[in-house]
Amino acid sequence: MFCSNCGKEIADKAVICVHCGVPTNNSVTERNSTSDKNWCVTFLLVFFFGLLGAHRFYTGHIGSAVAQLILTLTFFGILISGIWVFIDFIIILTGNFRTADGEKLKY
Ligand SMILES: [Zn+2]
Repeated sequence: MFCSNCGKEIADKAVICVHCGVPTNNSVTERNSTSDKNWCVTFLLVFFFGLLGAHRFYTGHIGSAVAQLILTLTFFGILISGIWVFIDFIIILTGNFRTADGEKLKY
């Protein structure tokens, strides 16, 4: 990749440019490893609309969100999605839920 400040080539994983010392995009993502998705919103979504996969749609887990939604809409599937959402609920409650990008939720 190239430095956004001086334009010289630098290592892909570099956090600062070796030529001009300006932080690269890598260091920006490093600092912003907390998502802009709000924990409180995620908690309310799983609490009220968890069976519809709302908290997973919100945090970018689209595939599993659709799976939860479909399970809930089927007669026996709701037993599975019920347990699944309960586990999600506990994970969110304990603050260990991550977005699809692996970022922590914002408090
Ligand atoms: Zn530079």
